[in-house]
Amino acid sequence: MGARTKIDWADASWNPVTGCLHECEYCYARRIAERFCGFDPDENPDDWKFRRGGTICELDGMQARRQKNGKVVPAFYPFGFTPTFHRYKLDEPELWKKPRNIFVCSMADLFGGWVPDEWIDNVILATQKALQHRYLFLTKAPWRYDDWLERFENGEIKGLDVVENCWFGASASNNEQLEQANRSRAMWLSIEPIRERIFTDEDQFVDTIMTPSGEVERPRWAWVVIGAETGNSKNRIRPEKEWIDDIVSECKRWGTPVFMKESLREITGPDFIQEFPWEVNDNA
Ligand code: SF4
Repeated sequence: MGARTKIDWADASWNPVTGCLHECEYCYARRIAERFCGFDPDENPDDWKFRRGGTICELDGMQARRQKNGKVVPAFYPFGFTPTFHRYKLDEPELWKKPRNIFVCSMADLFGGWVPDEWIDNVILATQKALQHRYLFLTKAPWRYDDWLERFENGEIKGLDVVENCWFGASASNNEQLEQANRSRAMWLSIEPIRERIFTDEDQFVDTIMTPSGEVERPRWAWVVIGAETGNSKNRIRPEKEWIDDIVSECKRWGTPVFMKESLREITGPDFIQEFPWEVNDNA
């Protein structure tokens, strides 16, 4: 999620919810949110401490912050990286007339365990008011998709009969997270930043389903995005080319489109690929 500096697989990001409590050491979103928070931590260290330790916050309107030069500018992250619901942003996609591939909550984990159902419901309801777009979700808690989809399928979410154009994706940096993703109803997978070699011999990329004519194998993932950690952290893990080749060869085997982030261009050389499922597969 917030680990990326540039979202080259989406046209836009939309952040009605910001902030996250996962504490990934490589998180880029945290650095941005804390840098552009709504107050000066040097002036009011107690306030800073309190707000950092807060659980969740809600806002009905855009806040302002004063820069060091005295200028007042919009505050997109008034509570730093504390999970915050920006209700006033819910109608943003409706204002974008041209169709976009939108990364929903690039500065948060919308399905993180601390996020109230009501926030998630409102964000998804807002997507259904602007169906010209495709909405790409990512979470490190993909089991929450299962809970949400169950509530939706049981008719528990008022005002929502169908969910279109929502691509529920799981974010996995290692084998453990990939296993969790596999057990969930996530549709697509982001392996970014890849932090270890993925065990591709354990059927992580294929599903076997029963049909009237017997067992059929089909791709587990509608799309796989892969990226390396960026930045200058001393703990930064630079993936081996073999790690990427393993995943790509599994995806090719099962017919899954692969998108490599720019961070892999140098590592993969001529094998660099960027595929979008909606271009590869007209039915996507
Ligand atoms: S899950 Fe994403 S947004 Fe949350 S701390 Fe990790 S990198 Fe940052």
